[in-house]
Amino acid sequence: MTYNLVCGLETHVELSTKTKIFCSCPTAFGSDPNTNVCPKCLGEPGSLPLVNMATFIYAIKAGLALNCKINQEVSFDRKNYTYPDLPKAYQTTQFIQPICTNGYIKLNSGKKIRINRIHLEEDAGKLIHSGGNTYIDCNRGAVPLIEIVTEPDISSIEEAREYLEKLQLNLRHVQVSDCKMEEGSMRCDVNLSVNRPGEPLGVRSEIKNMNSLSFMEKAIAYEYERHVTAIKNNEPLVQETRRFNEADGSTSAMRDKEDANDYRYFKDPDSPYIIIDDIFIEDIAKTMPMLPEKIKNNYLEMGLSEQDADLIIKYKKVSDYFSSALVTGDPKILSTYMLGEIFRSIETESQKEDFNILVPYAELAELSNLQKEGKINAQMAKKTLAEMLKSGKSWKEYISKSDMEGIDEGTLIAMCKTAITENPMAVADFKAGKDKALKALIGAVMRQSRGKANAVQAEQTILDLIK
Ligand SMILES: [Zn+2]
Repeated sequence: MTYNLVCGLETHVELSTKTKIFCSCPTAFGSDPNTNVCPKCLGEPGSLPLVNMATFIYAIKAGLALNCKINQEVSFDRKNYTYPDLPKAYQTTQFIQPICTNGYIKLNSGKKIRINRIHLEEDAGKLIHSGGNTYIDCNRGAVPLIEIVTEPDISSIEEAREYLEKLQLNLRHVQVSDCKMEEGSMRCDVNLSVNRPGEPLGVRSEIKNMNSLSFMEKAIAYEYERHVTAIKNNEPLVQETRRFNEADGSTSAMRDKEDANDYRYFKDPDSPYIIIDDIFIEDIAKTMPMLPEKIKNNYLEMGLSEQDADLIIKYKKVSDYFSSALVTGDPKILSTYMLGEIFRSIETESQKEDFNILVPYAELAELSNLQKEGKINAQMAKKTLAEMLKSGKSWKEYISKSDMEGIDEGTLIAMCKTAITENPMAVADFKAGKDKALKALIGAVMRQSRGKANAVQAEQTILDLIK
């Protein structure tokens, strides 16, 4: 008997605006507790919100990147609940008229994960537990968020991961958020139920606040098993909100799942009703960079493998740099530089995200052309690039004219003849059908020429000589 996994994700993403959503307090991460606050973001009586329009621009960019309809009539609502990290006892959000609806993310299989809505809202503060006490830091309160809500279209852990990775990639490319799950600028809730094929949907549970991809995967795996076991044993499941326990990968009940009614949503009387006109949306659309899917297709058309293209587009700055180098350089050679020497010099994820390397893209493109034209071989290019990455100096510092002169035909033939005479076993093996033996002969030529010979020409010459 198989059991379907029916899963939807709600992802909160912190926008990279400099100031908060309804006041001009900074959003900077890591300030002293309660220093980035004012009466507006604390919701003190008598204070009135002032909408930060940059948050609308960011949310519209996100909507365009995720194939959404941008709604032209938008308003804010109050979601009422009490919790110590929310002193004003309501969160200002968009319940009735969200800014974006009806989008999707396309997975590599072609399946679309539909996005029901993207709405703007404010974040809550943070509780700090220390020495048996709990402290409240309101710096994060009213930092702008967008919440991206999918339909329950996800039917495996792999699809959930791919969706979230693609979401992250798109939002980073359009620069609305750094989407760092480990720093909390991207967090995700999982809605999940299980049913047998052909039967009605099962009871739904929601697992809150996963802050890494692997936690999300573990939470889905655990919950799926829990639901399947309960169904098999005819045990009742209840609709509830659960927490993920990082220590053992389990989930446990937090509270009954709330319905919208529990929050007593009503229109925020203090926030303006906003009309977004076509020109505003068109102007933002004009500033949108090329989206990752399109960039990837371009790379594939230039002959890159799917895997290499994915590794390069994963980081916006890496892909910007690579795309600039491509204008004058050779795509395949450049990709070997990127994924070889360059990625080796910047190993951590954050180094790749920041991508501060000393080699200008034009220099890299020139190096690739020298290799393509056969003036230097791959090995020399690799060595030179390693030096350039360390010093920031031009390739001209490391490659002399005589290095580029290569080897004339007569010398190459003489070297090939020597290689053949000195390696009779390899010649015999090759003639007996062992194709690998040819590599030994080419290697001998490369050693004689100290890497200056062109391996392709050497191979051809050897084949001609031993035919
Ligand atoms: Zn404030």
